[in-house]
Amino acid sequence: MKSIHPLPIQKRIALVAHDGRKKDLLDWVKFNKTTLSTHFLYGTGTTGKIVSDETGLPVKSLMSGPLGGDQQIGAMIAETELDMLVFFWDPLEQQPHDPDVKALLRIAVLYNIPTASNRATADFLISSHLINEEYDRILPNYKKRLRRLIEEDDE
Ligand code: PGA
Repeated sequence: MKSIHPLPIQKRIALVAHDGRKKDLLDWVKFNKTTLSTHFLYGTGTTGKIVSDETGLPVKSLMSGPLGGDQQIGAMIAETELDMLVFFWDPLEQQPHDPDVKALLRIAVLYNIPTASNRATADFLISSHLINEEYDRILPNYKKRLRRLIEEDDE
């Protein structure tokens, strides 16, 4: 059986952008400043600082991505402390923290939170009526998975 874990009306939105995409993310935040001001913003260190300096929006900044910020965001998603991820990763550059990037994207899929990696998807998410409504997020039943692993061990 699946379980429902609602995303609240006021979303906790994580903003992350690699250096080559920071301007794109900033443009998106500026364009959507009014809507975003009604939600709670979080960001990796540099992204969060740029967004709050340039827009005046309050952003709770974590560590810089390559220094552990991506992992912090991933942990917050797993602990249901974040509801949406806007992560403009750079498809044209290698990243020193590539395993962390992959882990963050994996966790976002696993916990079924809306995730945008480019401007078009971010535009669709922010213009959805669900951005200002509670949303019944469906999560897989991980208890069943754990039980299966234990039963296999007993054989
Ligand atoms: P930054 O991290 O916002 O500190 O630059 C982003 C990232 O590379 O994940």
